[in-house]
Amino acid sequence: MSVVNVMEAVVEERLEKLLEDFDCCKCEKCIDDMMAMALNTLKPKYVNSVKGELFSRIDTTKYQNTIDIDVAVTKAIETVSASPHIN
Ligand SMILES: [Zn+2]
Repeated sequence: MSVVNVMEAVVEERLEKLLEDFDCCKCEKCIDDMMAMALNTLKPKYVNSVKGELFSRIDTTKYQNTIDIDVAVTKAIETVSASPHIN
């Protein structure tokens, strides 16, 4: 697979940032659940990663700070933290 979803990197960054304001479980499992949930509600943005450093040259800040992403990420955090996983 030579395409990557830019939103994965964007959501990961926003999730990390927004989680600072939440007092909830932040283990790998919960973070993965939050990532998946947020990504499922957001429109994917695929780019071709074959062309060398194309991905690294993409300005992720262009996709950040949009209300849609923060709303999706916040909702994912609230949903996952409301029903924490069973260890
Ligand atoms: Zn957890």
